Amino acid sequence: MRRPIIAGNWKMYKNTREAVETAAKLLPLVSSAGDVEIVIAPVFTVLGAVAKVTAGSNVRLAAQDCFWEHEGAFTGEVSPAMLTDVGCSHAIIGHSERRQYFGETDETVNRKVRAAIRSGLMAILCIGETLAERESGATFAVLERQIKGGIAGIPITDMDSVIIAYEPVWAIGTGKTATDAQAQEAHAFIRATLASFTDQATAARCRILYGGSVKPENIRGLMIQEDIDGALVGGASLDSASFARIVGYES
Ligand code: PEP
Repeated sequence: MRRPIIAGNWKMYKNTREAVETAAKLLPLVSSAGDVEIVIAPVFTVLGAVAKVTAGSNVRLAAQDCFWEHEGAFTGEVSPAMLTDVGCSHAIIGHSERRQYFGETDETVNRKVRAAIRSGLMAILCIGETLAERESGATFAVLERQIKGGIAGIPITDMDSVIIAYEPVWAIGTGKTATDAQAQEAHAFIRATLASFTDQATAARCRILYGGSVKPENIRGLMIQEDIDGALVGGASLDSASFARIVGYES
């Protein structure tokens, strides 16, 4: 059985006071959630403060990115070891906004995923096609390339530390969600592709999250799909009450 994950990507929102308040408000709302891994990803600068709030709770902490080196002269970067040091258990890697605005490639994403795993983080590897790619019929080719590139060189024995987030770029922050059937079709393809690069058992265990305008109103329909194991939530995770409803699959 794959344990569901609901992860909130706070993007570049919330200063320390706001982040601490949001996390503190969230904890009691999800303290009796069922068997679901709950993750929030605030900005780097507030991770330490939020870690103090979430310590001992059922809410885990993720970074929104990481670098691939352990330490060194890499101005502005943050290593996976520094993230575990501050209390992170997960890192989102290769988000489409990073690919789009910060020049991340399958190769840099792969280096980050491998480094994150080496430091004991769970890597949430984001993949997804743009609207132009979907309209030109390239969706599956893009997903295959991103999976192959993203997990290159990762031993099968480490694959349980990789979570895939399928986020069609055209559905992120646009209010346009993929239909349940579109999402399931992509997730089934991702699992089959993972099996071809690893093996059936590894692919069957891998958690594949959907992301793209997930809200309390659409989470249930997504979660009942066979290959959807959770969600990576942007906008709707900024409000504790709305994120808690998604954690409970409540419309
Ligand atoms: C995201 O940032 O990963 C995301 C899916 O955003 P939104 O839920 O706002 O579409």
